[in-house]
Amino acid sequence: MEKGVSSLTLTPYGGAGQVTGSNFLIEGARGKILVDCGIEQGKDYCESCSFDDFPYDVPSLDAVVITHAHLDHVGRAPRLMKYGFKGKVYMTPPTRDLAELILRDSAHILRGKAETQGLAALYDEHDIEAFLSRIEVLQYHQEREVAPGLSIMLRDTGHILGSASVRVKAEDGTSVAITSDLGASPAVLLPDAEPVTDADVILIESVYGDRQNPEREHRSPMLRDTLKKAIERGGAILMPSFSIERTQLMLYEIGHMMESGELPTIPVFLDSPLAIRVTSVYKKWGKEYFNAEARQEANQTHDLFAFPFLKLTESREESEMIGHAENPKLIIAGAGMSHGGRIGKWEKIYLPDPESTLIMVGYQAPGSPGRLLQDGAKKVIIDGHEVKVRAKVETLHGWSGHADRDGLLAYAESCLPRTKAFLVGLGEPASARFLAQRIHEYLNVRALVLAKGEPIQITKEGVSRAH
Ligand SMILES: [Zn+2]
Repeated sequence: MEKGVSSLTLTPYGGAGQVTGSNFLIEGARGKILVDCGIEQGKDYCESCSFDDFPYDVPSLDAVVITHAHLDHVGRAPRLMKYGFKGKVYMTPPTRDLAELILRDSAHILRGKAETQGLAALYDEHDIEAFLSRIEVLQYHQEREVAPGLSIMLRDTGHILGSASVRVKAEDGTSVAITSDLGASPAVLLPDAEPVTDADVILIESVYGDRQNPEREHRSPMLRDTLKKAIERGGAILMPSFSIERTQLMLYEIGHMMESGELPTIPVFLDSPLAIRVTSVYKKWGKEYFNAEARQEANQTHDLFAFPFLKLTESREESEMIGHAENPKLIIAGAGMSHGGRIGKWEKIYLPDPESTLIMVGYQAPGSPGRLLQDGAKKVIIDGHEVKVRAKVETLHGWSGHADRDGLLAYAESCLPRTKAFLVGLGEPASARFLAQRIHEYLNVRALVLAKGEPIQITKEGVSRAH
């Protein structure tokens, strides 16, 4: 191939100008790979555009790579089966286990959404089973040809268990990597994100491209103090939590605080069948995938996520019993942005009570019920009911699973000198622009903000817009 002639084209069909809906098509001279196929989330658990047709020819895709098990990266993937996808699907072993849980769990919520909006189902149970049967697991650092003339390699990103970046390499050596979501360093359970030091071009995420996270250092004491005050207030304590990673972190931290006497012991309920199952996956793979310190602890302790006052309430009957337990008590449940789920049930009961406390530990998308609560709404609509808010609402920012502004820049720098250009995506426009500007100014490397549907030509010398 001539110098400067592109051997790879990358087109973002989601995750450009927005955080969610990760979906990138990479085309080589002979093969085509799709990286991620997530749903768009915002005001809704799943935005209606996720129900649209795919803007590319699905049967001609050779392979799909899933970077991690969050719904905005995998939630739309079973829909590919409806459109005639014939290839294999690649991901790490923990991602396979987590994706299976998360897809089965979200199926009924997505079905309900389709029914209320008069849309055809996103996919059905058969599509999920067919999709799962196509999965081939790939370990980090294992290079594999997955499409004619295209090989991939996954690396740890320390975002959630099993999360990966993917580097795609063409026959002539031209390569592009997609970081997907990058974890914040240092993390309690996971290793730091590994730099990609062998890609010509890197697509980097930018969720917190323009924000610092000064609370990170103090997050454990802040969690402890917030819980202490909530316990003193005497009411129920509600913690809406994402099932993957955040819940396990909270169990780990709160368990340690109660066992060491830093926190008074009160009953803690993990009221989420999904989070209970996800925690089992963390136990299963932790000894292999956690960072060195957490691995060592996992090897010495029977269970990192269990402690004497923790009750797992999987069945509906067990969950109902929580209502009879005396206050103060802590209830950890989904959905993470209060889009219904079991936390919705408890919010309806306890938000009107001034002795109660609602503690947010995760990202709340604009327009979500969680964001309204965070912004101080005096009433919210939960499951169609208007609920008065008299409870104390607290937000802890230090627990984000994403690298912040300086973390992203440091990550980009760690990938140099091989990388000649960065593509900035997976963030809101202002955030992506800010990160691109900083990469250009501080690292003196070209950085382009991605636009949805606009193809980018990748060459060994860098990038160019296709038209
Ligand atoms: Zn993610």
